[in-house]
Amino acid sequence: MATTMLTSLTRGGTPWTPTFLTTLEGRKCIGCGRCFKVCPRDVFDLVERESIDSDDDEEDWDDDGFSDDPHMVMMIKNGDDCIGCAACSRVCPKNCHHHAPWPVKP
Ligand code: SF4
Ligand code: SF4
Repeated sequence: MATTMLTSLTRGGTPWTPTFLTTLEGRKCIGCGRCFKVCPRDVFDLVERESIDSDDDEEDWDDDGFSDDPHMVMMIKNGDDCIGCAACSRVCPKNCHHHAPWPVKP
């Protein structure tokens, strides 16, 4: 029997399948904070990297107003709060996020 995935509808009645955040590749993360700012839920936390192998404390400010800080890394704090909008993936410059539809329990 095929697995049924959690689905919903748009306001106009079009079927829509949320893709929930499953993993975040911290190794690729540059600590810019974009995903934290765009997420409508309480899913992420920006924390200090445990091992810092550079003495350079300068932050890289782009003209988009976000700070690229190699000393920080984004973590999934509360994955169960994700609504599967995938906004985090659309703004991440390093493709750190992975998503998947969610199976409905029988
Ligand atoms: S998919 Fe949406 S709700 Fe889930 S972590 Fe990304 S931005 Fe937040
Ligand atoms: S948008 Fe990507 S690179 Fe920026 S903090 Fe989030 S995961 Fe890291």
